Amino acid sequence: PQAGRPLLQVQQLRKEFGGLVAVNDISFSVAAGQIVGLIGPNGAGKSTTFNLITGVLPLTRGSIIYCDKPLQAVSAEDIARLGIARTFQHTQLLPQMSVLENVALGAHLRRSAGAIRSILRLDRHDEAALLREAAVQLERVGLGDCMFELAGNLSLGKQRIVEVARALALDPALLLLDEPAAGLRYMEKQELAAVLSGLRDEGMSILLVEHDMDFVMKLTSHLVVMDFGTKIAEGTPAQIQQNDKVLQAYLGG
Ligand code: ADP
Ligand code: MG
Repeated sequence: PQAGRPLLQVQQLRKEFGGLVAVNDISFSVAAGQIVGLIGPNGAGKSTTFNLITGVLPLTRGSIIYCDKPLQAVSAEDIARLGIARTFQHTQLLPQMSVLENVALGAHLRRSAGAIRSILRLDRHDEAALLREAAVQLERVGLGDCMFELAGNLSLGKQRIVEVARALALDPALLLLDEPAAGLRYMEKQELAAVLSGLRDEGMSILLVEHDMDFVMKLTSHLVVMDFGTKIAEGTPAQIQQNDKVLQAYLGG
């Protein structure tokens, strides 16, 4: 992307499920090398926004522009190939496979349309390349030592970082993380925050959905706040902490 131009621009984005407006004409952008927080109470529309950006769900209206390219008509596989990777709110790791295989397989599945067919077509050469790439990403997030352990044997904190590595194996420029710190202990949150700020320092852009305010406020330079599908506030962490609408939304007032 050109300097100064946002990497991702979401404009008047709308999603209706029948009569429910899950995402109500919201706009925001993410610049290169920036961590933006997307926060709001349960049901606010955060995960749906992720599903729209990644092409998992069709949008009702609006536009999503990534690297100056509109994504509305682009398939989920092609959006992943263009450089947008995500993690999910609930862990997607296969507990009986090694950490390395999880990272390699996850990247492979999301990169290719027709997952089963592509597994059958995978030859030894491709497999070796995938495993090498997975190892590089695990080293990058500090999990090189755990590569050959079963994913299910790792602590929840390490599993979340494995999921980040799996997203990184797609070689993205933008990471969408859906509640990566949920359920983690204090030290695990610190470790995850260190990984994410390290990625940011390498130039990665991150859109972060997270409920832990302490975690969000420390990591992000900009916050977008949603409630009932609507963007109710936007600004720096300091501005958002003093915003009356935001306090109301969180206190249920
Ligand atoms: P959040 O991630 O902020 O907690 P979601 O985006 O998951 O919120 O949900 C926003 C609203 O959209 C909720 O009311 C939810 O029940 C509804 N919703 C989400 N996905 C679907 C779906 N596939 N079909 C119908 N309603 C949905
Ligand atoms: Mg959610």
